[in-house]
Amino acid sequence: MGNEAIVKLGQEYVMNTYGRLPLVMARGQGSYVWDADGNKYLDLVSGIAVNNLGHCHPKVVAAIQKQAEYLMHCSNLYWNENQILLAKLLVENSCGTKVFFCNSGAEANEGAIKLARRWSFNKFGPGRYEIITAKKSFHGRTLTALTATGQEQYQEGFEPLTPGFKYVPFNDLQELEQAITSKTCAIMLEPVQGEGGVYPASEEYLSGVEKLCREKELLLIFDEVQTGLGRTGKLFAYQHYGIEPDIFTLAKGLGGGFPIGAIVAKGEAAETFKPGQHATTFGGNPLAAAAGLAAVNTLIEEKLPQEAWEKGEYIKTEVQKLKEERPQIIELRGLGLMIGIELAIEAKKIQDYCLEKGVIVNCVQSKVVRLVPPLNISYDDLDFGLSVIFEAIAQMTSR
Ligand code: PLP
Repeated sequence: MGNEAIVKLGQEYVMNTYGRLPLVMARGQGSYVWDADGNKYLDLVSGIAVNNLGHCHPKVVAAIQKQAEYLMHCSNLYWNENQILLAKLLVENSCGTKVFFCNSGAEANEGAIKLARRWSFNKFGPGRYEIITAKKSFHGRTLTALTATGQEQYQEGFEPLTPGFKYVPFNDLQELEQAITSKTCAIMLEPVQGEGGVYPASEEYLSGVEKLCREKELLLIFDEVQTGLGRTGKLFAYQHYGIEPDIFTLAKGLGGGFPIGAIVAKGEAAETFKPGQHATTFGGNPLAAAAGLAAVNTLIEEKLPQEAWEKGEYIKTEVQKLKEERPQIIELRGLGLMIGIELAIEAKKIQDYCLEKGVIVNCVQSKVVRLVPPLNISYDDLDFGLSVIFEAIAQMTSR
């Protein structure tokens, strides 16, 4: 089927939850995708920070093909080697000591919230269940992850929400401290807010948050669903800040394009769940874990976090140069290859213009163009993508 026929059928049979762009993705290779009519696009969105290795990385493809012939699924009532090796790999490269696997970011956060509540229940008894999250945060769409998300626009009409959440402004330590009560058990933050508009946490803020958690016996939970797996220039974003969360969650980049999520915890938190307290049918199945192993090993072997850092700095330098000429660029934010360009104009206009020219960019929070390209994108491709974005900004602002 061609583009038009696919879109028409999709509109008839698929629930209308996404406000999709007029692009059918049919094939991908590295930093490029092709639509169903054979048109080629440079992908600077990577499935929203999922395809950190680019599309269809040969090592991930080979791992999936090989595993698919052996064993795709087995219940978590039994052991599977891939899951154990992936847990070991994550632990050996992070502050974590144990891992629970699931299938998505929302599920990982949902599990992390349960873990924090249960840890507090075991240690302090009932009633200490509140979790403080940040305004403009995003933690997913299940009912509790949605409640943790500090943005009313996602919550409206789905009430009653899960009790036990409080929201404070991001990067404001004083407000956070004031929100802590005898009922608080954890603080949950994204090291860089993604969906909220690409806002990195300051070093001072996160070290202050960690200190507060230690003083008041609270768990520190980092949602690294978007920031994890090399995206920000380190394997995990917390590693920029010289601190260690008790729990961090992963998904997006973990399977190199294949769905898998994880809760990584250390110390007491890692030992909290007992049999029967948390579970999932598909989480960490042999096929997903094979993809995860190939993806994480490749990220480490090919030193992609370092590349993400260098390319992020390169983009920032280029955008900064343009910013001097174009006051329509209000602010440039980001860490590594997670970049937000805040504009005085609607970012959707830039997104649409770029798409017409064969470059996929994304917009968040109406005025921010978000760039989350594959970490192994070439500098030539980056230059091409940036030239189209700059052309779009010039076009829009001259109208
Ligand atoms: N947490 C963060 C920081 C995210 O950016 C997202 C998705 O964008 C999620 C959680 C939800 O992940 P998923 O869509 O896999 O449920």
